[in-house]
Amino acid sequence: MSQDTIVSLKELQKLDEKMERIRERIGRLEESLADAETPLVEAEEHAKATRDRLQQMRLDERRLESSAEEKRTRAKRLEQRLNEVQNVREETAVRAELDMVQRALDGDEQEALGLMDQIRRVEETLAEQEEAVREAREEVGPRKEELEEERKQERERLAELEKRRQEYVERIGEGERKVYESFRAGGRTVVVVSLLEDGACGHCFGMVPLQIQNEIRGGAEMLRCEECGVILTAPEAAGEE
Ligand SMILES: [Zn+2]
Repeated sequence: MSQDTIVSLKELQKLDEKMERIRERIGRLEESLADAETPLVEAEEHAKATRDRLQQMRLDERRLESSAEEKRTRAKRLEQRLNEVQNVREETAVRAELDMVQRALDGDEQEALGLMDQIRRVEETLAEQEEAVREAREEVGPRKEELEEERKQERERLAELEKRRQEYVERIGEGERKVYESFRAGGRTVVVVSLLEDGACGHCFGMVPLQIQNEIRGGAEMLRCEECGVILTAPEAAGEE
């Protein structure tokens, strides 16, 4: 493995660790955002339920009103017929029908009054709930903006690192890239590590056989720790980390 490839692999690994931490931070910010918004979401749900209920009640009221209107028209026609009746029997029949329509009309009007009263009360409740929504929005707003701004910054950092990552990926060979990606896909975060001065693996600290150590120090490619499987590279010069 060329020195450039080793450096690139290590840089790639560092970048991936950094990006992973940023993704975790974004995940936590999103949880905080959801928590911060809960009071507002709940207040909005309450107001919406009341609005829906009010709409249904107004529909009922209109239906009742048109049913009463219909009965009023019928009563008026029956009153006219009373003037045109030919005999007592006919008059009795028309009066009986008129009484019936009148009673039904009274029932509708009573019901409409009750409903209007209910509507007024629900309107008051809705006004209170809408006020609660405004208050929640004022309270939640600044915290939400703050968290969203933080999330935006983290996302920008992530995008920036993603670009840099692409540059390193292009600098390492296809073979190394595949090994690296398959390691990561398997859930490993450490793919490449330096051999320590004493000949131990820099990841698991298992001793690497002398023969292998020599090959690594000599620049051999893709030699892996028998214990943990990481790709081992020659010890870094002091102060490089
Ligand atoms: Zn190891």
